[in-house]
Amino acid sequence: MMSVQPLYLDNNATAPLREAAMIAMQEAMGPPANPSSVHGFGRAARLQVEEARMAVAGLAGCRAGDVVFTSGGTEANNLVLGQYRHIITTQIEHDSVRAAHANIRFVKVLPDGRVDCDDLRRHVMAVPDAERATSLISIMAANNETGVLQPLDNISEIAAEAGIMLHSDMVQFFGKHSMDFSSSGIGYASLSAHKIGGPAGVGALLVRPGCALSSLLKGGGQEQGRRSGTENLIGIAGFGAAATAANGDRAHYAKMAGWRDAFEARVMAALPSVQIFGKSAPRLGNTSCIAAGPKTAETMVMAFDIAGIAVSAGAACSSGKVQSSHVLQAMGAGEAAARAIRVSGGWATKQADFETVADVFVRLYKQTS
Ligand code: PLP
Repeated sequence: MMSVQPLYLDNNATAPLREAAMIAMQEAMGPPANPSSVHGFGRAARLQVEEARMAVAGLAGCRAGDVVFTSGGTEANNLVLGQYRHIITTQIEHDSVRAAHANIRFVKVLPDGRVDCDDLRRHVMAVPDAERATSLISIMAANNETGVLQPLDNISEIAAEAGIMLHSDMVQFFGKHSMDFSSSGIGYASLSAHKIGGPAGVGALLVRPGCALSSLLKGGGQEQGRRSGTENLIGIAGFGAAATAANGDRAHYAKMAGWRDAFEARVMAALPSVQIFGKSAPRLGNTSCIAAGPKTAETMVMAFDIAGIAVSAGAACSSGKVQSSHVLQAMGAGEAAARAIRVSGGWATKQADFETVADVFVRLYKQTS
């Protein structure tokens, strides 16, 4: 059997911690650090929080004051959906949107993974005038399973015409694609640190000036009354350092699209029956979602693991169990959804890694078909 170095290609689940984030967190550990304290220790902690806020804002293309730190993307999604009474979203959102509200209407997606804007328009037009101010459209920027990018410019025009606020889960988009929150028509955006090489357990909700946000947690009124609870200084410092580093390596993701395309071309040439989800739509350059061969994704993920490569099957579930992907089902993948493997590169991924995964992919699938 060919021996390969352990290779991590599951960055959409989480990215390896960047060294700069590790150093920033180590430096933040130790001194007493409540950013609300008025003494020197507190002021030093406040400075670190505000520097991290500027770094996150720099990568997101917004004002520092728009950044509300949270415990991650899940909280950011729940926080914003909790402000509204009626939600219009898509069938392909992350569970932290799909499960965050009792009153949700789902817009269809097209087979290429993009939202069906005609169906969105129908849903929006059906909202009674009296409900528009209390309704929110929530549509992700990039899908975690397929990498498919949503047409947010069209979506924000539809939202603006109807006078309905727009939120976007930008957890997968942030740091992998250029982002200009301030000049978008988006009111709120969710971010997460661990997808860009920061620590898990910290993220942010971006809030455009003039958009309301009240804390779901009742308490000390931190984050200008928008998210109570003493700030997670260590996590926030790591998030800020990761954002600064990510700002410096944007070109890496543009190059990665070429490596990913070459990987897909090789797999398609060797295994003609493969299906690549979202291939005809604009996608993040780091993601490939492929169904090949007769074996379930779960079996193949184990085979990849034995071969020294970490990839995933559909969405990574917290319990470790793999369910058939609701994203691929919504795209009409049918039984192929249970066979789809996701390969996702990150800040530490090299061209040779995509070449190695292509070799192993072809070898493993040739063995099993
Ligand atoms: N939204 C998307 C699209 C995601 O991929 C994830 C994480 O997998 C989340 C939200 C949740 O983010 P967090 O892990 O920071 O709670």
